[in-house]
Amino acid sequence: MRLPGPFHIDKVLEHEWPGQAPDFVLRSVTTDLFRQTRAGQDPAFSKPETGELLMSFHSLVVRTPRGTLLVDGCVGNDKNHPLVPGWHQQNWPYLDRLSAVGLTPADIDYVCCTHLHGDHVGWNARLDGDRWVPTFPNARYLMAAGELKYWENYHEVAPGNPYLRPWTESVLPVIEAGQVERVDYEHEILPGVALQHAPGHTPGNVVIEVDDDTDRAVLSGDVLHHPVQVERPDWCSQFDIDPYQALETRMALLEQLAESGAVMLGAHFTGPSALRIRRDGNGFSYDHAVCD
Ligand SMILES: [Zn+2]
Repeated sequence: MRLPGPFHIDKVLEHEWPGQAPDFVLRSVTTDLFRQTRAGQDPAFSKPETGELLMSFHSLVVRTPRGTLLVDGCVGNDKNHPLVPGWHQQNWPYLDRLSAVGLTPADIDYVCCTHLHGDHVGWNARLDGDRWVPTFPNARYLMAAGELKYWENYHEVAPGNPYLRPWTESVLPVIEAGQVERVDYEHEILPGVALQHAPGHTPGNVVIEVDDDTDRAVLSGDVLHHPVQVERPDWCSQFDIDPYQALETRMALLEQLAESGAVMLGAHFTGPSALRIRRDGNGFSYDHAVCD
């Protein structure tokens, strides 16, 4: 599905949650509170009849004249998530959907994970017999050096932690294949495509700014998990490692988007998955962004 914004950006869907209680994702947000918001009434992003929120797990693929970048590798197939049944040993038609937008794994020049949580690294590697091998054979996998360091340290102090399965199944295999580049937070990937440090959700979390001189987008990863956080940026995600830093980063990004008019492409936004942000009183509001 083509998304609005610069160059040519496609969403490649892995899976969607059919409906989830708001407080599974957002700390202390009751169904009643969620229902009182605009996003809680917006069928693109929620189920107003039950007060549940919707979440998507997809990659964003940016095609530029100088190369093709795949951002965030979702959960992946055959991965072991013993604590998350919906992600455990799945078999999604993700590569068929990549093919449906006209790309094969060999066409991907760069892969960038905004951070190294299990729902952003999965398709880095696929199971080949009993070995994990890089899914994208020609890609350089770009990872912020600070983010890699954080998870390397975590792995050293808690090697048996089941939350570290994504590290062993989806990050180490691409490091061992020699395809990972540790990059600075402000790294330019391609002309018009650059990282920006956006800490809080994880310490080395990044967003990706894309600008082709006619339009701009920010691939915002998990700075916002759900569009309701446009109107309630103070609603923090359960999965933010440092919620105070995450709030500061979220406010700064919303300011930047309202100022620049860039389209925001969220890693977990359902429906159009693309928003334009505007100021609304002392806060912010959104419009669905669609392709011309
Ligand atoms: Zn995520």
